[in-house]
Amino acid sequence: MISRLRAACALSVLFVGFSACIASAQQPPAAGNQANEMPSVTTVPSAAQPSPNFNVDAATEAYMAEMPASSRARSDAYFEGGYWLILWDFLYGAVISLLLLNLRWSARMRDLAERITRFKPLQTFIYWAEYSVLTFVLGAPLAIYEGYTRERQYGLATQTFGPWAWDQTKGLLIGIFLGGLLVMALFGLVRRLPRTWWIWGSVVTMLFLIFTVLITPVYLVPIFNKVTKLNDPKVTEPILSMARANGIAAKDVYQVDASRQTTRMSANVSGFGQTMRITLNDNLLRRGSPEEIQAVTGHEMGHYVLNHIYKDLLLFFPVVIVISFALLRWSLDWCLQRWGEKWQIRGMGDVAIVPLVALILSIFGFVTTPIFNTQARTEEREADMYGLNAARQPDGAAQGAIHLGEFRKMRPGPIEECILFDHPSGYNRIQ
Ligand SMILES: [Zn+2]
Repeated sequence: MISRLRAACALSVLFVGFSACIASAQQPPAAGNQANEMPSVTTVPSAAQPSPNFNVDAATEAYMAEMPASSRARSDAYFEGGYWLILWDFLYGAVISLLLLNLRWSARMRDLAERITRFKPLQTFIYWAEYSVLTFVLGAPLAIYEGYTRERQYGLATQTFGPWAWDQTKGLLIGIFLGGLLVMALFGLVRRLPRTWWIWGSVVTMLFLIFTVLITPVYLVPIFNKVTKLNDPKVTEPILSMARANGIAAKDVYQVDASRQTTRMSANVSGFGQTMRITLNDNLLRRGSPEEIQAVTGHEMGHYVLNHIYKDLLLFFPVVIVISFALLRWSLDWCLQRWGEKWQIRGMGDVAIVPLVALILSIFGFVTTPIFNTQARTEEREADMYGLNAARQPDGAAQGAIHLGEFRKMRPGPIEECILFDHPSGYNRIQ
């Protein structure tokens, strides 16, 4: 359901280089994850049936009552734990950055890169590789807990440690390569244009982001998962008919074997231009009713028709990127004047500054989490409304909301939802 997840991931690769976050993982689905599964609703509760006395609140409550209390308690605990992880991720990352600066490990990694080659761009790339590997290793304890141990505790992961770790490593390599290209370009700009680098840096970062979103469905996703054309006419015919009715020139729908990594059900719109596509994951295809699949696809078509990818890429992210670079330009100077000598950073064009950049961007990202969530949630709500009208499967949509309640708290308070939810809550979606 998340059109912007990939874009956000691309951004974090660009910016922070904690490449573990783009990785997913692979392994055949394990049996026995039923403990946390919400029921697949097969009948519409009587209070939600069409009638002259239909009452929205009563219908919503009737759907909520379909969920076992134990499953809801479990998903609430999982999701609320995620709030704390936002804080721990931020603090843990900040400590790593401060260690690299204060112990002068960053300066030493730069010195090592300079001993290996005299060619500046290559020095930058080597430093970036050293930095990526070191932060990957130092970040591993929290990453393992968050991405592996905890996911297994809640029955959401389907893989053993080996394949999970291999996928993290693939994510690291992609981060080194793609992030390395961007970092080389940015440091080239800083060295040549000491006054205006932040403007040109914003432009280059934008172009890089567009490039990453473009190649993601075709080149990056297949590194982790198998993507195939969906061939079951019982599933594809109603979907393609809906696509035609909504002016989408789609000939194919794609499926991805997400069950290699997770029990979560989802779908997304990714790419743009020639690579833009709707992909349903196999958990949805396996457990969702035809009505639910159509409701979910209608939602994804909403992202498509309402141009959410273009709005994100051409309106939202440019603003975020320019603000980030302006913030960097001001705050890097300020920090270097105070601590530059202590950290043995020679100036703006010195790659040893990277942990400081990561620290500043992570503070910015942490503080603006509610803004990012609200921007995302607003588009998700638009897509929900579009999907209800396009698919005309409100009960399928309710079933989808219940399934997503396996990993997302169903009924948060209004402020909680506003600050911490990147999708509307299950309760609001059903309503
Ligand atoms: Zn969505």
